[in-house]
Amino acid sequence: MDVLEDTVVDGPGFRTVIYAAGCRHACPGCHNPQSWNMGNGHPVEVDTLVRQVLDDPFADVTFSGGDPLLQVEAFTALARQIKKQSRKTIWCYTGYRYETVVQSPRLFMLLPHIDVLVDGRFEQKLHDDKLLFRGSSNQRIIDVKASLAAKTVVGYRMKE
Ligand code: SF4
Repeated sequence: MDVLEDTVVDGPGFRTVIYAAGCRHACPGCHNPQSWNMGNGHPVEVDTLVRQVLDDPFADVTFSGGDPLLQVEAFTALARQIKKQSRKTIWCYTGYRYETVVQSPRLFMLLPHIDVLVDGRFEQKLHDDKLLFRGSSNQRIIDVKASLAAKTVVGYRMKE
């Protein structure tokens, strides 16, 4: 686990980014293959991360990796605490597709506690302004609450 404070590339505005070690997707062209091995990270208590996130009153939160859904129980506990104690928005990046996440009772547990899911493996890097906050053109920026309510994928609309 690693934490980067006040970045502006993994979602809108200033964000505290929590990087999970470990990923099984093995995308060709992965920007960070060192993150595949969970042993390359170090364990951090959920309570410690909650404190670190809440210590910054201005930054929202992004879960990235590796793939945070590999440790979905811990990230669900973290998201629940953040939502209970603040009004911060939470974005989560994952190599799984949204459809896979909603069909898995285990992976699904995180969804009710986050705002946006950026889904899918890294398949094709394109240099395009529309790829804001995404590395690959197949990835979708999904409004999770709207998608759960509509029972279909609803894209996140960036606030002006
Ligand atoms: S999901 Fe992300 S971290 Fe995992 S292999 Fe693909 S690009 Fe790399």
